[in-house]
Amino acid sequence: MSVRTRFAPSPTGYLHIGGVRTALFNWLFARQHDGQFLLRVDDTDQQRNVESALAPILHGFRWLGLDWDEGPEVGGDRGPYYQSQRSELYQAAVEQLLASGAAYRDFATTEELQAERDAAKEAGKSFVYSRRWAAETDADAQRFAAEGRAGVVRLKMPREGELVINDLIRGEVRVAWASEQDHVIQRADGSCLYHLATVVDDHAMGITHVIRAEEHLPNTPRQVFIMQSLGYELPAFAHLPYVAEPGSKNKLSKRKLDKYLKNREFAALVQHGESIAARMNLTVDTDVFNPVIVDFYEQIGFLPDALLNYLLLLGWSLDGEREEFTREEMIELFSLERVNRAPASFDPQKLLAFQDRAMQQLPAKQKTARCVPYLQAAGLVATPPDCDTGPQLTKILAAAGDRVKMAGDVLDYDDFFRADDQLQYDDKAFEKRLVKPPAAAELLRKFAERLAAVDPFDAATVEAALKSFVEAEGIKIGDIIHALRVATTGKAVGFGMFETLEILGRDRAVNRIQLALAKLPPA
Ligand code: GLU
Repeated sequence: MSVRTRFAPSPTGYLHIGGVRTALFNWLFARQHDGQFLLRVDDTDQQRNVESALAPILHGFRWLGLDWDEGPEVGGDRGPYYQSQRSELYQAAVEQLLASGAAYRDFATTEELQAERDAAKEAGKSFVYSRRWAAETDADAQRFAAEGRAGVVRLKMPREGELVINDLIRGEVRVAWASEQDHVIQRADGSCLYHLATVVDDHAMGITHVIRAEEHLPNTPRQVFIMQSLGYELPAFAHLPYVAEPGSKNKLSKRKLDKYLKNREFAALVQHGESIAARMNLTVDTDVFNPVIVDFYEQIGFLPDALLNYLLLLGWSLDGEREEFTREEMIELFSLERVNRAPASFDPQKLLAFQDRAMQQLPAKQKTARCVPYLQAAGLVATPPDCDTGPQLTKILAAAGDRVKMAGDVLDYDDFFRADDQLQYDDKAFEKRLVKPPAAAELLRKFAERLAAVDPFDAATVEAALKSFVEAEGIKIGDIIHALRVATTGKAVGFGMFETLEILGRDRAVNRIQLALAKLPPA
C-alpha cells in the first residue's frame, strides 16, 4: 500500500514555522516511501476570502520546494481538497452515525448543560452528561424543536473501557473512554466540526499516516471513535512535539513577538531583517514580518534548504551528532522513530548559523543570482541587469565572504552600484576621517595622483602603491586608509580596501576621491 500523508492548513494568511515543520515531516515521510503528500484546506470555519488567505501558504510551500501531489492548484482524483466543498460527505457520515446509534441529536440548552456541569462540580464528580435532552426518536426531536430548542449532533461516546493508541512517536497512549465527553460533531446550523470532517476526509483521501502536532493528541480518541463507528480502517498516528519559544517549553506563537524581542538573538534577527527591508524600500507588514512566519525568511534572503535543514532538527535527530543534511539526505535518513517527544525550542542563533553555512557553501553563480533581486528591489540594478552587473557582483561577494549571511546583506555593498556622484556618505565617518584630521585632505589628494598611475589596477599593485606612499610620506597606514575608505565607499567599514579599489577600478576610485575632496570645507 502506498504511503499517503497530508498537511491540512487553515487558510490564515501566513505559514507558521511550526506548521512548516509538521508539513516537512509529512513531506519527507511521503517522499522517502515514494508515496504521496497532499495538501488539504481546512476552511470549514472560514469567514474571509479563502483564496487570498491560502495564497501566502501555497507560496511558502513553493518557495521551500515542498511540492504536493494532490491539493489546491494541482488537483487530484480524491478532491475537492477544500473542506468547504465537501459538506455532502460530512452530512452522509453524520447520518450514518445517527443511524447506527454512534451519535444522537441533542437539544440541551447551554444553560442546562452548565447546570449539570455545576452540579457535578459541587458533588466533586467529573461531569457526565445525563443525555436527558437526547432525541431517541424523530418524535422526540420534533417535540424538542417545538419547544424552540436548537439541536446539535453529539457522539455517543463509550463510557467504559479504554482506548489504546499506538502512536509512532509517543508509543502506547491509553485513554479511559470515561474521560471523554459526548463531543459535538454537527452544530445547530448544520455545519460540521473539524473532528468529523478530518476523519471523513482522511478516509476518503486514503491517508495512511496522520502526522500532526501533538496538540491534536487529545482529539484523537473522539476521531478514532468516529472512524471505528463508520467502519474505517485506522491510519497510523504520529504526534509531533510542538516547536517551542526560544529558551522555553511554551508553544511558539506568532502573537508573542513583543515577548520574544526580549531574547537578544531573536531581536537581532528581527533587526537584521528590518535593516534589509528598509534598504529595499519594502513596506514591512508587521503581521508577517516576524521570524515565526516563513515569509520573513524569504523576504530577507534565506536559502530554503538552510531553513528546512534547521526545521528538520526541531524535533528530529539522526544520532544526536550530525546536523547537516542535503534535501536528498533528509529524505533518505528521516524516520518517525527518531522524532523526540519533548518540544524543541526555536533557536534563532542556530538557524542563522545554518543559513550562514549554507550561504558560504553556495556556488558563486547561485549566490550572485540570489542577491541580484535585492539590488533590483533597492533600485540599484536594472531589470534585466546590465551585462557587467553579474561579474562585478560575483567579485564583491567573493571579497565580502561570510559578511553576506543572507542574500539581503548584499545591500551593505550598495555603494558599488551607485554612480560616483550619488554616493551616500556616512556623515559621522566623513567628519571623523576626512574633515577633522588636518592632513587627510592633502594626503588623499596626493594619493589620488599615485592611484591614477597604478597599472595594473589590481589589489596587490594598489597595496604596493599605498605602502610605498606611506613610507615616502613618513606616515602610518592608518593615517590614510580610513579616509580612503570613506572617500571611495562613503562608509566606515567594509571588506578589504585593496579589493574594494580593484573592484571599483581606477577611474571610479580616483573620481570618488576627487568628489569627496570637493565636498570638504575650504581649508
Ligand atoms: N487544520 C488542522 C490544524 O491546522 C489540521 C489538524 C490535523 O492535522 O488533523 O491544526
